[in-house]
Amino acid sequence: MPTISGRVHRIVRGQGAYVFDDEGRRLLDVPAGLWFANVGHGRAEIAEAVGRQLRELATYPVFGRFCTPPAEELADRLAALVPMAGAKVFFTSGGSESVETAIKLVRRHWQARGQTERQAVITREGGYHGLHGFGTSLVGVPEFRAGYGELLPGRITVPMMDLAALERAILAHGSGRVAAFLCEAVIAGGAGVVPPAEGYLTGAQELCRKHGIVFILDEVVTGFGRAGSMFAADRYGLRPDLMLLAKGLTSGYLPLGAVVAAGPVAETFWNPGTPHVFEHGLTYSGHAAACAAAMANLDILEREDLVTRVRAGESRLLAGLLPLSAHPEIAEVRGGTGFLAAVACHELEVAAQVADAMVAEGMLIRVTGGNALQVSPPFVIEDADLDRIPAAISAALGRVARRRVRQETR
Ligand code: PMP
Repeated sequence: MPTISGRVHRIVRGQGAYVFDDEGRRLLDVPAGLWFANVGHGRAEIAEAVGRQLRELATYPVFGRFCTPPAEELADRLAALVPMAGAKVFFTSGGSESVETAIKLVRRHWQARGQTERQAVITREGGYHGLHGFGTSLVGVPEFRAGYGELLPGRITVPMMDLAALERAILAHGSGRVAAFLCEAVIAGGAGVVPPAEGYLTGAQELCRKHGIVFILDEVVTGFGRAGSMFAADRYGLRPDLMLLAKGLTSGYLPLGAVVAAGPVAETFWNPGTPHVFEHGLTYSGHAAACAAAMANLDILEREDLVTRVRAGESRLLAGLLPLSAHPEIAEVRGGTGFLAAVACHELEVAAQVADAMVAEGMLIRVTGGNALQVSPPFVIEDADLDRIPAAISAALGRVARRRVRQETR
């Protein structure tokens, strides 16, 4: 038995949209790792930027009274990129830490403002916000909440796309007792890629404003181009109070996340003269080498105009996948927002077998949202490779079906 958790298919190298395993197979990275390898694997430029920073100074904690040039520079750059006025940045080491930090920040904000009853957080069924303490308590996937005994109180769950249900939940709980609404623009792993219903996100934002609730947009997956615009907030015309970032911030070259805050929450803690301090700190907050990786990653994203590439390729990706919905094992194909798509199978077992069979087709794919195949390639994928994904899934489905027939006739 290996000591590392999980199964062992050893991935040893990466180049562009491909990874290589220890048996020398070159495999198209269809999910971009875990939705992160946006600028592609093997970018020497990022490695060099990290190496330079490590030789200079690995890191120094940036909360409290210290900071480092890469953390300061990256914070300025993020604040200028997000569609949020006067944004402040709190760095974390990944998406789950961004979620924990945001919930603490919001709850502390309401306590500081004297609205001490505002503690509950509304999330959606099928939503996924990492699996740390608050994340596990808030996740909209029952399997991820089960088996821990009592979780943290103050969770309200609403259906995925129902604005009337959202307002009913706010009123039922008492709008003065709701701290925040936390949602993904495009639901990613929890429900297996579900793009927003027309008008849902702006409607939810309006409801938050109407009831004085902090609107937290989880852009851990969608941020930095994956949804076909720099942030999903840009695409859907949103102005969140807090935005959560990770993954595409460094394209996975080093672990790094961020909470970007604007409006009243930012004012509570970061306005000159405020008496309130957010007593929260993480050793590796704003890790200097990770920030250097993020800046080199953003340089590539901008120089190669990769967000435009995603937006231009999204309909090609979806159009290629849609015919798969005619296959008897396929329930549905979802996507159309950037390089975020899923091919949902009727049965988890089939999805898992197809994922295994894809290796023989020269591709890696993973199962997400229960029974869906995750199609979220690196932005640098060639059109020819984009076009090969549906055929490979189809061939893998064929292999699985033939194997089943053989087993049944045996
Ligand atoms: N939020 C969303 C929307 C995510 O998809 C994820 C991870 N897939 C997280 C938060 C948690 O991020 P991490 O795994 O980096 O902790």
